[in-house]
Amino acid sequence: MLLSITQYGNPVLRAVSAPVEHVDEAIHALAANMIETMYAANGVGLAAPQVGENIRLVVIDIPEDEDEEANPEEQMATINGELRNIREIMPLVFINPVIEPYGNQSLCTEGCLSVRNIRANVARPERVKATLPQLDGSVIEIDCGGLLARCLQHECDHLEGFLFTDRTSSAVKLTLAKKLKRLAKEG
Ligand SMILES: [Zn+2]
Repeated sequence: MLLSITQYGNPVLRAVSAPVEHVDEAIHALAANMIETMYAANGVGLAAPQVGENIRLVVIDIPEDEDEEANPEEQMATINGELRNIREIMPLVFINPVIEPYGNQSLCTEGCLSVRNIRANVARPERVKATLPQLDGSVIEIDCGGLLARCLQHECDHLEGFLFTDRTSSAVKLTLAKKLKRLAKEG
């Protein structure tokens, strides 16, 4: 079932989300619907607040990079101690993540399904170590770079009530201010 994606200006995007205490049928159904909604919107990640639920649940699917210039190392990550292709764990669904970004800051253009028609450069650390509890009770420990590292930071920000536009430079914030005001009105 497709869910409607909450848009900029909706207070649910600004709240700190609560941990998922019990993984019941409703959580499984929500995760499945979030994956379907993410695919339909051509997104690579979706956090529960983006479908109106202030809980710590995220879905991610990083597509295979078919660009010939792509760095194949970015498709690889250390997953539970083994170097593996990240495709093996996609779509990635997790609750109550603990993430630790590290390494050099890099600038990359981001967008968000909850912030229509705005893309902007955001500086973030290039790598992430994360503990990602799964719905079945197992845990994925991952150390990754590339788009997955960026996506993990972007999605986990949603759980704290942060949006990528908050992470832009003050110069970029100035250029976005009018557009964001308009978006907030449209809600
Ligand atoms: Zn987003």
